[in-house]
Amino acid sequence: MTREDFDKLAANAEPELTSIPYAIFEAAADAIVITDEWGQVQAINAAAQKLFGYGFAELAGANISRLMPEAYAARHDQCLASYRAGVGRKLNGMVRELQGKRKDASLFDLHVSVGELLLGGRQLLIGVCYDISEQLQLRQRLNHLASHDTLTNCMNRRTLHARLQEHVALAAAQAQQLALVFIDLDGLKVINDNHGHYMGDQVLVAIAERFRQQLCSEDLLARVGGDEFVVVARQIAAEQTGIDLATRLFECLQAPLSIDGISLNVRASLGVSTCANCTECDSPAPDQLIIDADFAMYQAKKAGGNRIACFNPVMRIAQQREQQRLERLRLAISREQLQLYYQPQFELNAPQRITGLEALLRWHDGPYGQVSPEVFIPLAEQNGLMSALNTWVVTRACADNRALIEAGLLDVPVAVNMSGFSFMQGDFVDKLTAIVRDSGLAANRLEIEVTETAALKDIEQARLNIAQLQSLGIRVSIDDFGTGYSSPSTLRALPFDTLKIDQVFIREMPNSAIDQAIVKGYLMLADSLGIQVIAEGIETRAQLDYLLAQGCTVGQGYWYSRPLPMTELQPFILARRAEV
Ligand code: C2E
Ligand code: MG
Ligand code: MG
Repeated sequence: MTREDFDKLAANAEPELTSIPYAIFEAAADAIVITDEWGQVQAINAAAQKLFGYGFAELAGANISRLMPEAYAARHDQCLASYRAGVGRKLNGMVRELQGKRKDASLFDLHVSVGELLLGGRQLLIGVCYDISEQLQLRQRLNHLASHDTLTNCMNRRTLHARLQEHVALAAAQAQQLALVFIDLDGLKVINDNHGHYMGDQVLVAIAERFRQQLCSEDLLARVGGDEFVVVARQIAAEQTGIDLATRLFECLQAPLSIDGISLNVRASLGVSTCANCTECDSPAPDQLIIDADFAMYQAKKAGGNRIACFNPVMRIAQQREQQRLERLRLAISREQLQLYYQPQFELNAPQRITGLEALLRWHDGPYGQVSPEVFIPLAEQNGLMSALNTWVVTRACADNRALIEAGLLDVPVAVNMSGFSFMQGDFVDKLTAIVRDSGLAANRLEIEVTETAALKDIEQARLNIAQLQSLGIRVSIDDFGTGYSSPSTLRALPFDTLKIDQVFIREMPNSAIDQAIVKGYLMLADSLGIQVIAEGIETRAQLDYLLAQGCTVGQGYWYSRPLPMTELQPFILARRAEV
């Protein structure tokens, strides 16, 4: 505005206004807008003219709403009305961030601080304004960075928790279902190892994008760990269930990813939890939804991965039971409450001749009864109890066998089962030989049974362990042959002393032509490689006869004897001897 305009305003208003130094008003870098108590523009400085794009003449006497959008102006009007009535809060010092409106109707972010000027009987309001669009954008950018994962642009864990609260509340208000899917990628580590972390990062970005394409704008997508994502969706349509959502997410991963010309397959385990009807919210707390879906995802992973599991409270009960069983097993191992039973092995055409014993673990879990080793051994393995258990088994088996030999009852090797996990430990041979030495049992009176699947995990380590054991005189047999990835090449690569044909092939004998062929094949193979064969699970005379006819010489099974505790084994041996 010009000096004349300014003087006119001053003259029209109050004589005191003339004392305002015009030069300062005009030179101020921030825009200054002066209105009367009705919100009518009385003066604007040069910076304000530049900011809003108006000349003073165009604005003189106009309502402040010209410079601010309607919504704000309405509030401002109310504010002014109460101000005039003397009941509103004082405007002096009030600071606001609002939207400014330029002459060309474009909007921008505006910071305004208001001062009062009481001149005689008149109240004038001075607004000092500046454009904060860039500042706000920067602030938004910083907020985004703090709340999102920089790699995938998914929200981070902290934000997910906050937004999930809102989602649960919204779903409750609108009586909608809410589904939460926890996704854990199955093979990212392998990609990182084989192709480097840059490739791993690109995979995460691509997968986040695939997920995003399955979601609507209201759904939440978060990355909550290295290779873990969470999706939250309110079920707008009743027929859409959590499992539908999970299936969509699962299926969108099926096509291989193509990154830098390399085709990669990524699989995932997905866990789903739902908040069935959030209005009657005895449904889980938001964080519980994440915990439940995570738990279900873990079950999917445990079942082999690359699948979906839905949370159901029974799962948690089963897991609690397993946890309790684990604690009882831990206690039983430390108190040496497990038992070793021995199943004799026989020369098939001379049933009184015992050629060996197989040590088999037994655990009587108090009131819960007998637990199969096929149940408690994996439990021990998964929870770090196997080393203690192996030490106990080998020590016990060596001591019992030595007692039998020294008593002159029986002088044969005792076979001890080793899980693949234990057999592949680097210090396995050292630990085993130390126990055998301490036991005083001759090394050639011990045999180790290991399954093929275990041996195949690391052929080189297996070959080394087998050779070391054999050089000490300890025999090594391949157990359950035929149930894993059995192939003649395993037998060629690994110098086993004995091959144990699994009982599944004996069970249907002699009626199953396929099993007959398989067993014949194994016998021929072992014969050509010079490996001894033991047939497991012989239960009937017919099975025995068939095996004998095929030239199989050694076997074990209920036909001869069930596994027996030492107290029963000794009379059993004596009785067999008496038959000779
Ligand atoms: P495995 O080593 O193949 O042991 C043979 C299994 O077949 C034993 O089951 C035995 O009781 C059973 N069996 C023997 N003869 C017959 C028969 O005629 N008919 C039938 N139906 N079954 C027969 P068990 O004792 O329940 O052991 C199961 C598996 O648990 C063993 O299979 C072995 O893999 C594992 N295991 C047992 N004890 C130990 C141990 O001390 N350490 C390790 N790592 N694993 C063990
Ligand atoms: Mg065995
Ligand atoms: Mg077996």
